[in-house]
Amino acid sequence: MKIKLITILSSVLLVTACSTSSLGRKQITLFSNAELDKMGITSFEQMKKETPISRNKAVNNFVQCVAKAITKHVPKSVHQGDWEVVVFDSNQVNAFALPGGKIGVYTGILNVTENQDQLAAVIGHEVGHVIEHHSNERLSSGQLAQVGLAAANAMLTSKEIENKNMWMAGLGLGVQYGVLMPYSRTHESEADIVGQDLMARSGFDPRASVKLWQNMTKLSKSQPPEFMSTHPSNQTRIKQLNQHLTTSLPYYQNAMERPHCIKPKNIPSAKKE
Ligand SMILES: [Zn+2]
Repeated sequence: MKIKLITILSSVLLVTACSTSSLGRKQITLFSNAELDKMGITSFEQMKKETPISRNKAVNNFVQCVAKAITKHVPKSVHQGDWEVVVFDSNQVNAFALPGGKIGVYTGILNVTENQDQLAAVIGHEVGHVIEHHSNERLSSGQLAQVGLAAANAMLTSKEIENKNMWMAGLGLGVQYGVLMPYSRTHESEADIVGQDLMARSGFDPRASVKLWQNMTKLSKSQPPEFMSTHPSNQTRIKQLNQHLTTSLPYYQNAMERPHCIKPKNIPSAKKE
C-alpha cells in the first residue's frame, strides 16, 4: 500500500515537473525558474566575494563586447533585462553562466581563446546550459534534489558547507567549490548545438567552436584546463560540432550584426592564488 502511494505521488510529481529541451528531450525539473534564478544570483554574489575581479580595462571591454553581442540573442523567456558579466582575475581556464542572467569569465581562458569568435563559442556554450535548464535537471536528480530544496530555502545562510558546495556544483560551479560534477554527454551535446546556433545568430563565426575544442583537447594533454574537467571533450563532440555547421553557418551568413571585439595583446596573468 505504502509503495503504491509513493508510486502515485512520485508519478504526480513527475508529470507536473516535466519540461522539454529545445532538442525535444523530456526533462525532469523540480524547481521553478524563480528558484533557479535566486540560486544563480546568490552563488554569483558568493563568487564575487571570494574571487578577485579583473579591473583591466582592455580585458573587460573585450569580454563585455562578446558577451553583450551573445546575450542580446538569448530569448527573453530565459532572462529578462541585462546580463551581468564579470571577469575574474584568475589563471583558471574556465568560464560559466548561471540562471538569473550571470556570466563569469576567468582571465585564464582568454589565453586559450584565440579571438572573439572562440570566446563567443565558450560563452555561447555556457549560456546554452542555462537556456536548456541543465542546472534545474541536475539539482532535480537523486540526492541533489533534497540538498537543492533545502538550499533553495536556506539560501546560503546554512553553515552546511558540504551541502552548499554540492548544490553549487549542481549549478555548474563544480571546480570552484571542490566538487567535481561534469555535465552529462547529453547536456554537453545540447549546449554545443544551442551554443553554436546562438553564437552564429549573434554574428560570430561558428567554425570557431570546432577550433576551440581542438585547442582544448591539445591543451588537455599537457596541463588539463579546469574547463575540461566539467566539460569532458572527445572526438564525437568535435565531429558533431562540425556536422552542425550546415545549420549554423547560414545563421552566421544572415546575421544582421558583425561584432568587432578586439582581444587585447596582453592578458595579464593573475597573482598567485
Ligand atoms: Zn558544457
